[in-house]
Amino acid sequence: MSDCLFCKIASGDIPATIVYEDQDMVAFKDIAPKAPVHILLVPREHIESLEQAQPKHSELLARLMLKTADVAQQQGLEQGYRLITNSGPGGGQEVPHLHLHILGDVRSKDYKG
Ligand code: ADP
Repeated sequence: MSDCLFCKIASGDIPATIVYEDQDMVAFKDIAPKAPVHILLVPREHIESLEQAQPKHSELLARLMLKTADVAQQQGLEQGYRLITNSGPGGGQEVPHLHLHILGDVRSKDYKG
């Protein structure tokens, strides 16, 4: 989608600190981190939110979920992490491109959950 922020980050048109990418997904640092580690993992395909996902996306969604553990490990989160996805305005979603928030160190005083 041409005017989507996360599509533009995934395509490299808007800069971000990318920590992982492959043909299907991109992970990058959140610009306004709510925890000591705050990474967003997005599919390259423009899916608006979890509510818009279709059965054909099942494998992609599973890969995204599983990849969060790799990204968390790469970020040094040996103690674990929190995974959040906001869906639609009622869920507080601001950017209408499906994304998983990977949050580390949520017991820190810097966590703004
Ligand atoms: P919320 O802001 O309520 O968490 P979302 O779930 O839609 O809503 O999350 C969007 C996230 O995208 C926010 O955490 C925000 O800080 C992040 N963000 C917005 N613009 C950028 C950007 N250019 N680069 C990286 N992260 C961004």
